[in-house]
Amino acid sequence: MSTTPFAAFTEPDRPKNLLIRAITVGGSQLPRPSRQATACRLRAALLVAAAVPLAAATAAVALRAGHWRLYADRHRINLTPQPCRSCPDCQGAGGWWVGGANPEMEACGCWANRPELRVRLLPVPAWPDEPPF
Ligand SMILES: [Zn+2]
Repeated sequence: MSTTPFAAFTEPDRPKNLLIRAITVGGSQLPRPSRQATACRLRAALLVAAAVPLAAATAAVALRAGHWRLYADRHRINLTPQPCRSCPDCQGAGGWWVGGANPEMEACGCWANRPELRVRLLPVPAWPDEPPF
């Protein structure tokens, strides 16, 4: 029995355990993919994210991966922080209620202390000063 010493390197190096937590398109959440999501699904999600702003003027794509939510349309690209599912304080809820008679939601530091990243693309058209009629 002879094996080549480089047999382990014949497979291309690619990540095998990529997980997609949720994909939202135009505000509606698609069904959550199984935990066996492959790199092929991630590639398809990235293709959708890149193709939709180019194909349709009013289309918007929002992806949620990891602890960030990506939103992209022809005017902007936003990366907003999301609560961590494994947060020991909020357990992924993003905050908790405080106060008695008038309770308020207090934001958890796992997402509230991280900055939002924003890239402006095309300017939003100016709102007209005069009424249209
Ligand atoms: Zn938290």
